[in-house]
Amino acid sequence: MSKKQKKVLWRILIAAALLVLLLLLPLTGWLRFALFLIPYFVIGYDILIKAFKGIVNRQPFDENFLMAVATVGAIALGEYTEGVAVMLFYQIGELFQSYAVGRSRRSIAALMDIRPDSANLLGEDGEITAVDPDEVEIGSIIVVRPGEKIPIDGVVVSGDSSLDTAALTGESIPREVRAGSEVISGCINLSAPLQIRTGREFGESTVSKILDLVENATSRKSKSENFISRFARVYTPAVCYSALALALLPPLVNLLLGRGADFTVWLYRALTFLVISCPCALVISIPLGFFAGIGGASAQGILIKGSNFMETLADVRTIVMDKTGTLTRGSFEVSGVHHASLEDKQLLELAAHAEALSTHPISRSLIRAYGSEPDGTRVTDVREISGQGVIARVDGREVAVGNAKLMRAVGVEPIDCRSVGTVVHVAIDGAYAGHILISDVIKDGAREAIDALHEAGVTKTVMLTGDIRAVGEDVAKRLGIDQVKSELLPADKVEAVEALLAESQKGETLAFVGDGINDAPVLSRADVGIAMGALGSDAAIEAADVVLMDDDPRKIAKAIRISRKCLRIVRENIWFAIGVKLLCLALGALGLAGMWAAIFADVGVMVLAVLNALRALNTSRL
Ligand code: ADP
Ligand code: MG
Repeated sequence: MSKKQKKVLWRILIAAALLVLLLLLPLTGWLRFALFLIPYFVIGYDILIKAFKGIVNRQPFDENFLMAVATVGAIALGEYTEGVAVMLFYQIGELFQSYAVGRSRRSIAALMDIRPDSANLLGEDGEITAVDPDEVEIGSIIVVRPGEKIPIDGVVVSGDSSLDTAALTGESIPREVRAGSEVISGCINLSAPLQIRTGREFGESTVSKILDLVENATSRKSKSENFISRFARVYTPAVCYSALALALLPPLVNLLLGRGADFTVWLYRALTFLVISCPCALVISIPLGFFAGIGGASAQGILIKGSNFMETLADVRTIVMDKTGTLTRGSFEVSGVHHASLEDKQLLELAAHAEALSTHPISRSLIRAYGSEPDGTRVTDVREISGQGVIARVDGREVAVGNAKLMRAVGVEPIDCRSVGTVVHVAIDGAYAGHILISDVIKDGAREAIDALHEAGVTKTVMLTGDIRAVGEDVAKRLGIDQVKSELLPADKVEAVEALLAESQKGETLAFVGDGINDAPVLSRADVGIAMGALGSDAAIEAADVVLMDDDPRKIAKAIRISRKCLRIVRENIWFAIGVKLLCLALGALGLAGMWAAIFADVGVMVLAVLNALRALNTSRL
């Protein structure tokens, strides 16, 4: 408990003890009044001050105002006990609420406990000093001992170990690393010390990016949250005026009918009405529900950038996916070299050099097949044409590496390949030089992932690819995908998504899932853009609304299920809180529920709603 919370707790205990004491004493008249004011001020002075400030600032209609008017009114009517008790319970409710919010914030912080405290910098002399991660420069060597968190992204220079990536990806199987492996910050080193050459500054490292993202997630408000704040703005004044009407109209009618006016009875009912109407349960439990949902999702390696995206995810009916890197591993194997006008080895060498600077999965694979690092000094004038390939000068010769579109763009007629697979054509100095046939592997769990999507209520799955038709259709058929569009340029992908958006019904949303390599425009065009396997890819983390930390396609359906559960909880809370309120308001107006019942209902609803909201944290079995 914080200091502030402890102070409120003390005030509650003192006021409660005083109240009990006063109830036991046989007091009457002015003395009774004066003595009851003591516990009243002990427990309520801050509320009274806030209410007064609200009136001075001409923004009176808030909870403090409701409580102040109701309790002052009760005391004026001689209902001292009730006046004090209402304040007391209100404060108990507030305390519980701030405690619950603090707890859930802390448990989310614990889930996201990836912030390193220090980095062990290895000096020239072999001396190790612990420094603030912020002070480590790019290219420094840091030492991470077993049990420690990797503070900064980099590459292992020595050591063989395994890493626990669970905090980042929710994946419990450790990842093996050795010299040369890229490692990302936030993972825990498990078995042996590692020396790592840092590749980024701390502020640019994965941990910092993720923490920023989670911390800012709650600033993007969902429709339900906006609804509640708009609701509270009209609701409280409406309740105040209704209370005024309840206090004045029935007595006036009674007077006109020649009966007793019963002013005090109706005034008391009006005050009860004010107590009941306090909207605390709604105001607190809805943001808390989203907060818990976002926290629960991040424990599974699913980062959702705002509660608005949770809402959109929950309504997803169409999922559009990129092929390479999303459904397939994006790690191609060279399965043949055909029609080459030079030695196979030479063709591969030129292609690998032309691709030296590209980050596309195809380029990585060609370089791997070539077998050694390309020599950068042999390459000049590199141009990468998104969705087509690369053109570069290697040893002074113009080498074009890419698909048939690229060949035609450089004025070369490509020769078709009869085998199924992705074909990488190569042209040298404007003459066709042959093609390299490469094939990709479908990811483990991709088929399951598509089935899980259909089960989660997605009605249409679409795959977009820049690859040739034969490959696209083959993959789609094996995975059970409903629609496939092949041979698309990045701009065509945007158009395809726009066409699908135009087709989708109101209230249904479309998600695009990509690996973040050249799909940023589509990611931002979809209702919700999901980037997958985004660890270490900044562009994707920035462009996407939802980031899946590892590249398991099953996480897509999981993200949808988590969002659905969270929204269900939020809606339950809205209906439950509004329902109980309306019931109590009716009972209060009819004089069937007194102020005691009112405050119990209020605090009770709030406690239940908060407990319900915290259920959204629990995502492990979804
Ligand atoms: P996908 O939609 O499958 O992710 P891309 O849009 O990234 O594919 O690329 C589409 C096609 O363009 C690839 O199948 C390939 O034929 C060609 N291509 C793109 N980049 C390169 C590259 N760097 N080297 C060779 N071919 C490339
Ligand atoms: Mg791609």
